[in-house]
Parts: sequence; C-alpha cells; structure tokens
Amino acid sequence: MMLRSHSKGVLILILTTLMSINVAAQSEKILDAAELELAIKKLSVLGSVLYIAAHPDDENTAALAYFESGRMLRTGYCAMNRGSGGQNLLGDEQADLLGIIRTQELLAARRIDGAEQFFTRAIDFGYTKSPDETFKIWGKQEILSDVVWTIRKFRPDVIITRFPDTGEGGHGHHTASAILAEEAFKLAGDPNSFPEQLQYVKPWEPKRLYVNVWPSLVKEKYNNPDNLIQIDLGAYNPLLGKSYTEIAAESRSMHKSQGFGISAIRGSSVNYFYYIEGEKAKNDLFSGIDLTWNRVKGSGEVQNLISEIQKEFNPENPSASLPKLLKLYSELNKLDDNYWVPLKTKEILKIIQSAAGIWIEAFANDYSFSPGDSVKISTGIVNRSDFPLSLKKISTSYLSNPIVLNKSLTNNNFFKTDAEIVLPKNIPITQPFWLVNSHGEGRYDVNDRQLIGRPENDPPLTAEYTLTDGKTDFNLSVPVLYHWTDPVRGEEYRPIEITPPVAINFTDKLYLFPDNKSRTISVNLISNKNGANGKLSLQIPDGWKTEPQEYQYLLNKKGDEKSFTFVVTPPDSQSEVIIKAVATEEGKEISRGMITIDYPHIPIQTVFPPAEVKLIRLNIKKTISSLGYIMGSGDEIPEFLQQLGYRIHLISDEDLDTANLNKYDAIITGVRAYNTRERLAAAQPKLMKYVQDGGTLVVQYITLADLVTENIGPYPITISHDRITVEDTPIKFVNPSDPLLHYPNNITENDFKDWVQERGLYFADKWDPKYKTVLSGNDPGENSLEGGLLYTNYGKGIFIYTGYSWFRQIPAGVPGAFRIFVNLISARQNEPD
Ligand SMILES: [Zn+2]
Repeated sequence: MMLRSHSKGVLILILTTLMSINVAAQSEKILDAAELELAIKKLSVLGSVLYIAAHPDDENTAALAYFESGRMLRTGYCAMNRGSGGQNLLGDEQADLLGIIRTQELLAARRIDGAEQFFTRAIDFGYTKSPDETFKIWGKQEILSDVVWTIRKFRPDVIITRFPDTGEGGHGHHTASAILAEEAFKLAGDPNSFPEQLQYVKPWEPKRLYVNVWPSLVKEKYNNPDNLIQIDLGAYNPLLGKSYTEIAAESRSMHKSQGFGISAIRGSSVNYFYYIEGEKAKNDLFSGIDLTWNRVKGSGEVQNLISEIQKEFNPENPSASLPKLLKLYSELNKLDDNYWVPLKTKEILKIIQSAAGIWIEAFANDYSFSPGDSVKISTGIVNRSDFPLSLKKISTSYLSNPIVLNKSLTNNNFFKTDAEIVLPKNIPITQPFWLVNSHGEGRYDVNDRQLIGRPENDPPLTAEYTLTDGKTDFNLSVPVLYHWTDPVRGEEYRPIEITPPVAINFTDKLYLFPDNKSRTISVNLISNKNGANGKLSLQIPDGWKTEPQEYQYLLNKKGDEKSFTFVVTPPDSQSEVIIKAVATEEGKEISRGMITIDYPHIPIQTVFPPAEVKLIRLNIKKTISSLGYIMGSGDEIPEFLQQLGYRIHLISDEDLDTANLNKYDAIITGVRAYNTRERLAAAQPKLMKYVQDGGTLVVQYITLADLVTENIGPYPITISHDRITVEDTPIKFVNPSDPLLHYPNNITENDFKDWVQERGLYFADKWDPKYKTVLSGNDPGENSLEGGLLYTNYGKGIFIYTGYSWFRQIPAGVPGAFRIFVNLISARQNEPD
C-alpha cells in the first residue's frame, strides 16, 4: 500500500474539493414554498418520457431536468449498465465496486434533476467498437427483455435515445442501446413478446421514439426539418431560480468518479430531436398525447380540487391548502386506476408533508447489524403548522405490533418515542441485489424479476407514521438511518447495513507464486457481532497445500478484527486457482468479505463480495531486480511486480529532479504518466540520458490530450486513437525471432490467452524507422495495427512504448501478460544466451 502514495496524494486533493457538497443519505427533504408550488402544478400533468442510453453520464441531464421540472412529466433514465468497466478517478475501486459508485452517482444526479433511474442487467465490459460484440457478451434477448420490461413498468408516452443506431455514437454500447430501444419500442405493446412478464405488467405501446441528436450531426445527417423537433433546454424556471442547463450542470457534476464536473451553460441552448418510430410529432414531442386527468376515468372531482388548490396556494401559508389536499388524497383513493393514482398519491403525500412542514425521522443505535441482533430505533416527528393533526401509530419493519399513540401533534412540538426490534435470523444481508449471485462478463444474474430495472435495494428497515386530521388517515414513511454529528461537516447520515455475522477479507486481490516456494497468505476476520466464535479455514484445490488446516477463533466484541496467516505451497507447474476462506459459525458456513465505500457525494456503501482470491503459480524467469516506477493517473502494476520479487521504488517529482536514476535496472512509466506528471516535461532529457547510459525505459499508454511533452522517446512517435478492443482477437509476431519475444521468457500464442476487456489502446500510428515493431493485431474487419509495442536501441539502452493494456491484464492475473511484461522490463541490448 505504501507504493500507492502518489495516487493517494491526488485522491486527497480531489476529496478536499468535494467536502462542500453533501447530498449523501439525507433524510427526506421537505419542499420549500416554490418547490411546493411546482409540485402542485405537476399534479395536473399526466405524461411520461423515458430517456434511453448506455452508460452513467450518457444521459442529457438538461433534457431530464426540462422534462421533469419544465414540462412536469414523469421522467426516467434507463441506462443499459452501471459503468463498472471505466476508470475510477476517485480511488482504487474497480469493476463491481466502481459499478456501485456509478450507480450512486446517478442517483445523486437524479436527486438534483428529479428524474427516476433504471438499469438493465447488462455489465459495462469496457470499450468496444461493435454493437455485435456487445450483444454477444450481454446476451441480446435478455437485455432486450429488460428494456421491454422497463417500458412496460414505466409506461412512457415518448421514448428518447441519446444515440443513433447507425454508429455515430462511437462506442458499441451506445449503438447497442439505440438498437435495443428501437426494438423494445416495437415489442413492448405486443403480448406475444416476452409473455412471461405479463403476470406482473401489461403490454404498453409508447406513442413515439425520437433520438436526441447532437447539433453537429443535425447538419450532416438529420437535416429533414419535417422530422426535427427543437427544444430550448436553456430555458429558465423562475420557481427554481435556475435554467435547465444550470440544473444539468449540477446533476452532471455528480459523475465525480469520471471527472465530469462541468460549468453551467446560461442562455438559450437549443437541442434537436429527430423522428425514429411511432406517430410523428407536430411541433412538440408530446403533441397529440393527452397529458391531463382525462386519462383517468371518473376523475372530474380530482381535477376540480387540483385547480382549486393551485389557485388558492399561498406560499406564506402552505398549510392553508391542507384541508383540500387531504380531500384530494381521499378522492384519489376512490378512482380505479393502478398507474397514475399510485404515482399521484405519492406526490400528494409529499406535498401534504411539506405543506405542514412535517419532519419525520427514524434513527437506529448503530449503522450495522447482523441477523438476530436487536435494534433500538428512536423515532421523531414534528408538525410545523397550525393544522390539527394527530399521530395515530408508528410501525417499523419487524415490529410485531405498531405503537398506538393517538397523540395530537401541536405546532412545533417535537414528539419522540423509541422502539426495539429483533432482526430475524434469516434477514438477507444488504448486498446489492445484482451482486448477490456471481456473474459472468456480460450480465448480472438476478433471481427476482421484480428487482430487474431497479437502481438499488430497498432500505432494509423503514418506519411508517400513520397520521390523521380526524377524517382522513394517511401514512408517511422513512428509511431507518444512522446519524451522527461531525464537528466539521455537521449532521451526517448513513444507510443501515445488515452484515454477515463475520466477514473475511484477504489482504491482497491476487497472490503470485513466481516459483515453487511457499508463501504466507493473510486473512482478516472481522466480527460484526459480539462473541463471534467458530472455525476458519481455506478451501484450496488439489495440488496446492495449506498449513494449518483450520484456526479456532473467538472475537469478543463487534468490530473486533484479527489477522490469521496460512502458509500456502504451490504445485511445480503453472496453475491458476480460486481459493475460498470459510468461517464456520454456529454450524453455518460464511464466506463473504466486507468492503466499505465512502465518498462525500454519495451515501456510504458496504458490499460483501465472496471471500475468494486467485492464486497463480507462474512459470516465469526474471533477470533484473531493481525497478523505478513513475506513477501516472494510477494503476496497480507496482504491487504485482513487488509480489514477483522485484524491488520497486515509486519515483517522485523530487527524485526526477535530483535522484541518480542509474540505480534502476529499468524505469516504467505508469498509465498516462505523460498526461498527468507535469514534471516529466523537465525530466525528459534526464530519462533519455538514463537510456543512453544503458537503462531500459518502458512507457505505458498515454492519451492525446494534455501531453506534458511532445517527445516521449528518443526518436519521433505519434500516438493515435488506434486500439484493439476485442480481447481475444489473435495477435501475431512481426518478427518471430525478435529478442523481446524470447528473453528471458519464451513468448507463444498461449501468452495471449484469457486477456480481459481489450488488447490495448492509444497505439502509435507513426514512428521513426529506428523503432522496431513486435506484435500486430486488429479488431475484426479492421486493418492490422503494429503500433502497440515499439522499441529502439538508444545509446547503450532501450526505449519501449506500449499501448497494450498491461494495467488491466496484470491485476486480472493473466499469466501471459506477466511473462511479456517481464520481458519488456528485462530488455537489454546484449542479451545473454
Ligand atoms: Zn457512454
């Protein structure tokens, strides 16, 4: 972990800038008078729009804000995936953990723009150019079924895609999202398609499908004015004191793990929407769609009440509207409709609560509990209006009988009471539902169809308050949270977690065995309850040995943590296995780890991944021992090189200025070092001198933006956007006798097996003839690329540029990637036999 000091330094800087924003896990917000007025206006609009794209950040947040608050429609964003394949600019979390962060960032964005969030089961597997590859990996029918399901549940009048289906969106996921939206648009209304869904939902035929086109494409491609609708998303909403583009900037700036903070656009900002399917719109995307209560039979009285409430609303005294709001609430109950009535009922309850200034809270005595624990919940409520309300009862999850109170809630008198519950022994842990089962590369495995499409789990514990004005009863509910006071940030909240009784974390993500020597593997056992008592063992496949077989453990207090070490001996030949740590507690086997993700812009998330780790017995030869590493935007390669037995030093900016670099057998630059380490510009002559004197310099991929120097090598190289995204596409050897392929490890086709996500990116497309190329490969149907690995002799040393994605393959434990990478850093001009 010491090795990562540089990237951690960057992290601290980013976090400091986030401190001022805190939207995480707040208790339910009460609407202010202007928001109330908008919410009341929205009561009379019955219409919906669903935006469909591929990733977190693809959504046009200005369009969402406009539809939600400008047109007052029910607005949703359906993302195909949770963005787990991208790179994390905030910290170390990758893959499933990054998907959790991005999910929460989308929810944070939706709290600002007001839209609802949906996902399919598709997994972000990284960059691809091809929708066909996307469908092959995701499973086209399954993800199409998820889009159809989301349409049938949400029942949008209009669907809007972010991308065209013709490929201009670039990323294969983008094009795939448009193709799926179009197919689902046609199928959702057909009872013969995905009939298994119809026990839960009805077929639904949206009215029309449009694509939200970029202005540049409008001129090139979508220039038929008959098919184009224009909307000014820069319009200003006086009730909110913001334009939709201003709301959009706040919302979009929640995508912090992608570094997508943006400034607001002010003034007119016209967007274009192009006709794709369904009934063509006239001038307005919603033309010909009845957006009123006429959609619900017998709603005359409801309509009258809403217009009276709108007319009479007094921002100085919103509670004056309460008698009519409660009347409206009970009138709604009489209507026979199972779509708009539940939605509008939810809106009205929020309005009633806000008009009375009712604050409700339910706080647990801790944030984490395990099955069978008892939980003390302190509930509180205050009515901040003169409107006479009384609290009939409070119920919470797992409370056998509600607490009956019949307590009158007079203006501004805070009422508190406590409850105690015992969690059932079989209460599920709060693992995100899409990560309960293990999954393949393309799609999460979700058992319960009803969960598909949802962004996150429901809270494990809630509290419900039944209130009455004497005539009408209504319920308000809140999730049970944990809260505390931070001396700097003030009041903080976090969600309640249900944890396994104990959790087991391996101290490393992957264990390398470069030879047949035994090594020690440590696990941390964390107790999530008092008096954890059981046995701990490693389940290890044949051919591998572990000592001891098991430990007896006793951890007295919740939160206690203890480390256990096992001596593991690998087999003689190359082998890759997954081992599992298992605790046996009261006769039950528990094999879950525990990871907490804590950033200020999202609620704290705790995840319980399987307590598993990969062991790799590598067949690898090493010749050198001392390495210098110039960390770029952050990668994990140094810790794995250390596991291989190299001495590795992270080269700081000061080292670049003053240290003698000749002590290193090789120097490696981390990914995007030439984009992120300003100091490299000044240090470049020194690095070239290092090569000249006999050193080996390996430069990993750099991008084209913000290069700190034009000359990364001793002779000219031009980096391009060339990449090979299909991870199992064949790689050929340009010159099979090239020493890089033979020393110290003999590289074969086998070493290109089991690569993950991609082959490489930002390959060079032009280079001085003094460079030699080594490997060639290409995505299906494209020209062969040789710019992924270039090297040249310079003075007595060697310079190498490589765009192959070692930063992905090495942490994923791809044996061939280790062997090739070791050859790169071991490259010498006069290689011994
Ligand atoms: Zn995208």
